[in-house]
Amino acid sequence: MITVVPSQEATSLSSLELLYTISRELASALDLQTVLKQVLQLSSQFVGANSGSIIVLDSEGQPVGSTIIYRGQIHTQQTEQIRDTIDKGLAGWVLRHREAALIPDTSLDPRWTKRPDDSPEQTGAKSAVSAPLMVRHTLAGVLTLVHPTPNTFNDDQLALVRSIADQAGIAVLNAQLYTESLNRARVMSALAESSLAITAALGTDDILQRVLQQVHQALEVEAVSLALLTPDRKTLEIKEATGPVANEVRGWRLKIGEGVAGQVARTGKTIIIPDTSQDARFYARVDKSTGFQTRALACAPIRSRGKIIGVLEALNPLNRQFPHDTRLLLEGIGSLAGAVIEQRELMDNLKNARRRFQELFEDSIDPIVITDWTGKIIEANRPAVFVNRTPKAELLKMNIQQLHEIDQKKVGGPEFENLRDDIMVYYEATLRPAPDVEIPIEVNVRQIFFDNHGFLQWILRDITERKHLDTLRDDLISMIYHDLRSPLANVLYSMDILSSLLSGENGMYGTLIDVAVRSAERIQRLTSSLLDLKRLEAGQPVLNRDTTHLTEIINDAVDAVKPVAESKKQEVYTELPAELPTMNIDGDMIRRVIINLLENAIKYTPINGRIGVGANAFEGGVLFWVKDNGPGISPEKRDSIFDKFTRLHTSGRGIGLGLAFCRLAVEGHQGRIWVESEQGLGSVFLFTLPFHSS
Ligand code: ADP
Repeated sequence: MITVVPSQEATSLSSLELLYTISRELASALDLQTVLKQVLQLSSQFVGANSGSIIVLDSEGQPVGSTIIYRGQIHTQQTEQIRDTIDKGLAGWVLRHREAALIPDTSLDPRWTKRPDDSPEQTGAKSAVSAPLMVRHTLAGVLTLVHPTPNTFNDDQLALVRSIADQAGIAVLNAQLYTESLNRARVMSALAESSLAITAALGTDDILQRVLQQVHQALEVEAVSLALLTPDRKTLEIKEATGPVANEVRGWRLKIGEGVAGQVARTGKTIIIPDTSQDARFYARVDKSTGFQTRALACAPIRSRGKIIGVLEALNPLNRQFPHDTRLLLEGIGSLAGAVIEQRELMDNLKNARRRFQELFEDSIDPIVITDWTGKIIEANRPAVFVNRTPKAELLKMNIQQLHEIDQKKVGGPEFENLRDDIMVYYEATLRPAPDVEIPIEVNVRQIFFDNHGFLQWILRDITERKHLDTLRDDLISMIYHDLRSPLANVLYSMDILSSLLSGENGMYGTLIDVAVRSAERIQRLTSSLLDLKRLEAGQPVLNRDTTHLTEIINDAVDAVKPVAESKKQEVYTELPAELPTMNIDGDMIRRVIINLLENAIKYTPINGRIGVGANAFEGGVLFWVKDNGPGISPEKRDSIFDKFTRLHTSGRGIGLGLAFCRLAVEGHQGRIWVESEQGLGSVFLFTLPFHSS
């Protein structure tokens, strides 16, 4: 190559020309390699160099590549070779000092690294000039030009190289930005593609498969594996894998913190190891047992809502090196996978919940019907189909009102107003599945939610058995009453005659007759109460009202129970004011109420107990009470003891009808009855009767 060193004027003119050409040429090139090639060609041509190089730095100031021109031929150099030049050579000096340098004779300047081919026998001393590629304060690289003859370059060439370097700096930076944006675009489109492919998957297994496929495609690697954390978050389990030993590694477990995957799972930081033989973090346990040889690996966390749920690992890039954007791609697919895995898990849970609900629904013993808010049946279980004797397809065309008569008052009318407040409503009704068939049911209806929509669930419980038992009990009660009433009256009548025949005899006969009379009277009271219970329950009013002296009926009641109390060494005392008003009530019935309360008090209070009975007038009526110092009644039972057949103390005698009768009798008089009690200290049963009642 002929080298021309231009004269002063020619230099300044040609340098202007050169700068113009360079800026025009460079502005049209975007690809980094093209830019570098052009800078080198143009500058070596204009400065008159026979070789030169450009080293390019990344945004962190690290060398990422270099281009060399030697006798018009372009070569690229790998990072390792550049290191040496930067550490020891002229380019390194320029980069460190951020200023241009002129070396008229390389054999005399220590900034020039002497290489074997610099020996006098070979190329010998040369002339060199070097300038940093700077854009504002950012260092983009360094341009060095060399002439084979020492003292060829002077300050003119230095100035020229400086100007070229300024132009080239901008072009290199532009090209880098362009490459970066191309890379980003590649990552974005790869991720968009992955996202489409992954979200189109059907089940969880499918999803994992697709995630792996995407990593495979995006990074072009030999094997990929995906591991998820176990619920205790202490272990990673490889759920899915591809590559030559995929089957062996599936199901493999790694402790958190162990190996690269374990570390990524713990720290959440991506790890890329270009050469496993040089990196202590690599842990070859899996390789040892599978025979696979991991040369390079990249591992990124899989996150879901910010929490690490697993890792994604890509092994052995087919091109020996991981692509530049591996981190971005792997992390992108990782977070995509996290979101989809979680979504799929939620879906699976929902499906399972639905299946469980379906099973419960179908396997329930009770007939269940689901309707919308107009009562239209949209689902019915097997028992519902069976009890209604209607095929399911027919039922699904019907309205719930066609199955039974709805208790409009309970459900709040045809719009089911009451059910909107999430209240469960019970009522009794009848199913008529065939003209001669009637099935008594207890309907239990409430609102349920399904897929965020409200529906109504109707449980139609068959209560034929319960009704049957109720009827049996009622029949038994009527039988007792009717069959005992007249013989009892006869017994009492005979006793009366006997006692008048024996009047004056105070001895044993009198006492015996007394006991017999009391017992018979007790039976009579019980039968009367049973009859009243039945009538009052049926809603009949209290008819036998008469002016009643309250003190009298209270004293009578005390007299009736006194012998039993005495037998238990209990004291029964009264708490009565000097005067009590008379009332228009069924005196016999209320007397039986008081006797009932007294008998209970005596029955449930231990020996030596104290039982008080009293009454007091208040403005609207009279308050009665019976108190004891027995065991008391727990708060949760204070209401239910007034229900029929409710008994707390199952050991003693009784059938649980006494208090039910008391309540019906008091309420029949428009009064109110309740119990106050301190457990362990005793109970007070209170009831009121109003003066004016119908
Ligand atoms: P029973 O025939 O069992 O006496 P009742 O209806 O009279 O039926 O009473 C219902 C239950 O209330 C009783 O079984 C008993 O457990 C409880 N009970 C009633 N009175 C008292 C009381 N004074 N002290 C403690 N428990 C009582």
